[in-house]
Amino acid sequence: TLDFDVQRVRADFPLLSRTVHGKPLVYFDNANTSQKPLSVIETVDRHYREHNANVARAVHQLGEEATAAYEGARDKLATLINAGSRNEVVLTSGTTQSMNLVAYSYALPRLQPGDSILTTVMEHHANIVPWQLVATRSGATVKAAPIDERGELIVEKFFEMLTPEVKLACVTHVSNVLGTVNPVREIARECRRRGIPLVVDGSQAVPHRPVDVQALGCDFYAITGHKMLAPTGTGALWARREHLQAMPPFFGGGEMIREVRFDGTTFAEPPHKFEAGTPNIAGFAGVGAAIDYVQSLGYDAIRAWEHALLGYATERLREIPGLRIVGEAADKEPVISFLLEGAQATDLATLLDLEGVAVRSGHHCAHPLMQFFGVPATLRASLAFYNTREEIDAFVAALLKVRKLLL
Ligand code: PMP
Repeated sequence: TLDFDVQRVRADFPLLSRTVHGKPLVYFDNANTSQKPLSVIETVDRHYREHNANVARAVHQLGEEATAAYEGARDKLATLINAGSRNEVVLTSGTTQSMNLVAYSYALPRLQPGDSILTTVMEHHANIVPWQLVATRSGATVKAAPIDERGELIVEKFFEMLTPEVKLACVTHVSNVLGTVNPVREIARECRRRGIPLVVDGSQAVPHRPVDVQALGCDFYAITGHKMLAPTGTGALWARREHLQAMPPFFGGGEMIREVRFDGTTFAEPPHKFEAGTPNIAGFAGVGAAIDYVQSLGYDAIRAWEHALLGYATERLREIPGLRIVGEAADKEPVISFLLEGAQATDLATLLDLEGVAVRSGHHCAHPLMQFFGVPATLRASLAFYNTREEIDAFVAALLKVRKLLL
């Protein structure tokens, strides 16, 4: 961690030097969306200044440049997560779209009344609601495996619940609320043994840790670009080739067809079969730049720095009387949910904002998890590699100050 030059890294992120309410910004809402380095901002800007055209249809120079940027992002994503082939990477608008694609195109045609989908109590709504929608249509049900007080999945219980009527299992790699890392490899092994396909929500994993979908052994892996330095409205679904081959298209339109006739349209091969219409081309140019940025730092350096920050922040927060950290998994990414006795999370977040500190308060799109902990909301400080110890000190000082105002 000593040779991680955080000040040099921060200089790459223009937004980090702004003030909020007259105070230096402390941005601890990274699990919500990350800030963007200049290389991403400039790539998007350059795309519109110099390369703008539609993809995959024009033979002119600009069309080829735009296609190269878009398809280049697919190559980089495939390398990032070690996909078996670039054709296993469907470009989407984010995890939400990726999950809905699996729900409508893979799950729905396979579900019968009496079947079920197994997920967990710690999921983001994007890994619950799509399954409920297709379950309602097919007469299937959605059930959720429990977690313990530390915020860890009770893995044995999850395995027990993998009964024969379960047709799909869905877990998050990393919890957006608790930071908990789930043992995806072990879960995938157990699912495979029982012939149950596994969907993994990788939204909060790729910003922090190297991911190898082949080593994990899952069937589907969803990611979102905007939490890992890329523009909003970008993401991907990785799926095993045989699944993509078997899945009917979800959206229909231009770009996803081979030939359109009123007596029978034929479709393009995956992944293009799932990419109807004009995509977020500039955004994916930015995805390419974002992946280059992550790889220029390297996950080893990112992890070492983030985990040093996580340890320091946890230690400093524990000094605050009446503060309770929610989620203390043994293996966690730099996300800290907490409550302060006697204060509402939203009041605290509003007052912290006046001190320049951006944290999230609320249910974090995880109602069932809030119900499990018996709270309506938590505060969440989520860190990134461009955060510093000094920011943690400023955050703790601000917390102590607003605590006095509220209590
Ligand atoms: N899953 C998890 C774990 C998330 O944290 C998020 C974003 N908060 C999503 C899914 C949804 O991602 P998006 O809104 O980018 O589709």
